[in-house]
Amino acid sequence: MKILQDLHIHSHHSCDSACSTLRDIRNDREALGLEQYAVTDHLHTQYNISDIESSRHDFLGGNHPANFHFGVEVTCMAAWECERIAAGDFVAKGDVPIYGFRDDERPFDGRMCIGLDENDIRKYGIEIVVGGVHWPQGYPDTRAGVIDNYFRQEMFLASHPLVHVVAHPWDSIELAAGDWYRHRDKAHIDWTVYKDIPREMDEALGRAIIENGKLAEMNLPCVLHGPEYLPVLCMERFRLWKSMGVKFTVGSDQHSAHPDAERFAAMEKLLDEYGFTQDDFALPFPAGGK
Ligand SMILES: [Zn+2]
Ligand SMILES: [Zn+2]
Repeated sequence: MKILQDLHIHSHHSCDSACSTLRDIRNDREALGLEQYAVTDHLHTQYNISDIESSRHDFLGGNHPANFHFGVEVTCMAAWECERIAAGDFVAKGDVPIYGFRDDERPFDGRMCIGLDENDIRKYGIEIVVGGVHWPQGYPDTRAGVIDNYFRQEMFLASHPLVHVVAHPWDSIELAAGDWYRHRDKAHIDWTVYKDIPREMDEALGRAIIENGKLAEMNLPCVLHGPEYLPVLCMERFRLWKSMGVKFTVGSDQHSAHPDAERFAAMEKLLDEYGFTQDDFALPFPAGGK
């Protein structure tokens, strides 16, 4: 089947290495024949809301067609991080908490937040909120602890009233399981953790996605990277969720100047192999536009 949407794209306004212009995002999507697409730059906490503001200004100045949508990608944060930033409790220490306070190894107390509120949604005309887990909360020291930690974060996003799409489910758990966040080298990535995610957790997550009216993302790089068994495990999870009634989105998660057309083709092949059709995909906004 042909992929007709890309609802997860980063522009050069994103706080990380993303470098595409909005004009190129649009021209490239038109060349790929996509019907609906959205820019979704990162918002980790209110500290970097200025990135969304500049992305929005650029977007409004571009006179874009109604099928080009404006969105954000939020991160599951620990509540104390949002509270510290709201209180301005970082200035004196000279911290630049773009990613929150990742060096603070305090234990996870279970309270979570995103850096976005309803006022931001209105102010910036946000049509789609993609929510992703990007790192462990605290530093769980067992594999079971890492899996449980990610599960709680995924469930938080799947039930958050402002999130529309659960982005790249379980992605980055290979880094948490390998203790990459402390070492930051290739020796500390453990892909095998994906084999240990209990089916019951995926069933619970699928139920939460359905009950809360969310969509699950098929994130192209996350499905297609890693060892050979990773696309299989991802597609089996999606097939399980499809059988439960979950609807999906597609996201290229592009950070480069232009999209990778081969990834779209590889994903289309997988979708055919696993029996997905256009009926399995949905949009969190009216197709007609704004
Ligand atoms: Zn992400
Ligand atoms: Zn992303």
